[in-house]
Amino acid sequence: MADGCLGCLYIETAPVTLRDGRVVCSSCEDWRLETEARMVVKMEGKAARAEYLQGVEKQRGKAAGDLLRDEVREQWKTGKL
Ligand SMILES: [Zn+2]
Repeated sequence: MADGCLGCLYIETAPVTLRDGRVVCSSCEDWRLETEARMVVKMEGKAARAEYLQGVEKQRGKAAGDLLRDEVREQWKTGKL
């Protein structure tokens, strides 16, 4: 959802700010991805993180896995959780 969540039902009641400054709602896919990545970043040990990402790829497909992996890497790099 590159254009944020205009027209979204919850933008008024549950706005959240993404790392890149965009404001979306707490039910948005972008926000779900960011919070999931944050959880992965906080996982104990490289093996646990790799295992989680593999599980996502298996269940939701390669595109979803790559998306999450990229977000994790980005959060890791910037240290901005
Ligand atoms: Zn939304």
